Amino acid sequence: MKISLNTQILFGASLGVTFGIILGHYTPSQAASPYLSAFDLLGKIFINLLKMIMVPLVFTSITAGIANLINSSQSRRVWPTLIFYSLTTTALAGITGLIAMNFIKPGVGLDVHLFKDKTNTFQVHSFNIHDFANHLMNPNNILTVVLLAVLTGITLVVLGEKSRTALKLINEFFEIMMTIVRWIMRLAPLGIMALLTKLVAQANVPLLYVLSKYILVVVGTTLFHGLITLPIILWLITRISPWKFFLAMKEAFITAFSTSSSTATLPISLRCVTENLKIDAAIARFVLPVGAILNMDGTAMYEAMAALFVANLCGAHLTLVSQIVVVFTAMMASIGAPGIPSAGMVTMIMVLQSVGLPAQAVAILIAIDRPLDTIRTVVNVEGDCIGACVVQKIAGS
Ligand code: ASP
Repeated sequence: MKISLNTQILFGASLGVTFGIILGHYTPSQAASPYLSAFDLLGKIFINLLKMIMVPLVFTSITAGIANLINSSQSRRVWPTLIFYSLTTTALAGITGLIAMNFIKPGVGLDVHLFKDKTNTFQVHSFNIHDFANHLMNPNNILTVVLLAVLTGITLVVLGEKSRTALKLINEFFEIMMTIVRWIMRLAPLGIMALLTKLVAQANVPLLYVLSKYILVVVGTTLFHGLITLPIILWLITRISPWKFFLAMKEAFITAFSTSSSTATLPISLRCVTENLKIDAAIARFVLPVGAILNMDGTAMYEAMAALFVANLCGAHLTLVSQIVVVFTAMMASIGAPGIPSAGMVTMIMVLQSVGLPAQAVAILIAIDRPLDTIRTVVNVEGDCIGACVVQKIAGS
């Protein structure tokens, strides 16, 4: 009997959680440590294989996507639809986070001295708008790969006949990358098991307990955006049933959850969207990589909520205008975060500094970031995939 990859992944994920609980919380640390090192190695191999494919995949996907779109004259509405969709959903995410924090106010009354060790040893590197611009245009940043891919795609169309072979080559190269991804995904059940074992085993339970109110608000609000707001947008615009959408995207969401990386999940979301939801390949190849890097609802929501949490911890009152500044900076920060685990924590400093909150507080947030990153990454990926469906409906021919 052949067991499907999906079932194997689910099985791997459940085993990972079980091993994590046993090794991390019920086994003496000396006895557990060789096993945890082995799982760590296995998880790293899996993530690094996916990362290895990231740059060539993003480049060929966007270049071919743009060139094919312009050639089929669909592109005129694709850009504006994608930008409008991204800004609206990201702003909605930030505002929902803000409302939840204002109602529930986690962090008020918590003793800040509990975190003194963490914040005292944390080195703050200031991160202002100037650093943000440098960060975006750093040649090592994946955003510059996006820019080069967009320019190459446009140039291929401008050169027309003269670059026909190059376009064909790029399309073929993309197919080669996707085939390699299919091979890497055979390792997914093992890789996901290893990643989840480590995640669960290393969870700092006492700290999670102290911050449980905040964690519950974050998880609840993120799930609200992922299970209510985004599916409503999907249904209203495309009439695709959210249930059908979730079933089609299952594999991508489990990968996003366990890798905490939207860019590492990109190859899987591309396959789920084109094969299971039958979205036009040119649209998916353009919207998904651009979305994975620029459109992050979960991250924008989290950064806004985290800033308000830090304000509550310090007993600072943020006026409505300051809160709007927080949402706006969180939106920018999510655009600057590159789609890898805990990327949001780097740009978080900018959000805190925008309203004068202490950047050292990031130390507290980092300590509990791994479990929270899992869910916000799923919502980031979900937002991109719904974006592809929306763009197809509005701009597709
Ligand atoms: N891990 C997130 C992602 O890859 C980014 C972040 O919020 O840290 O989408």
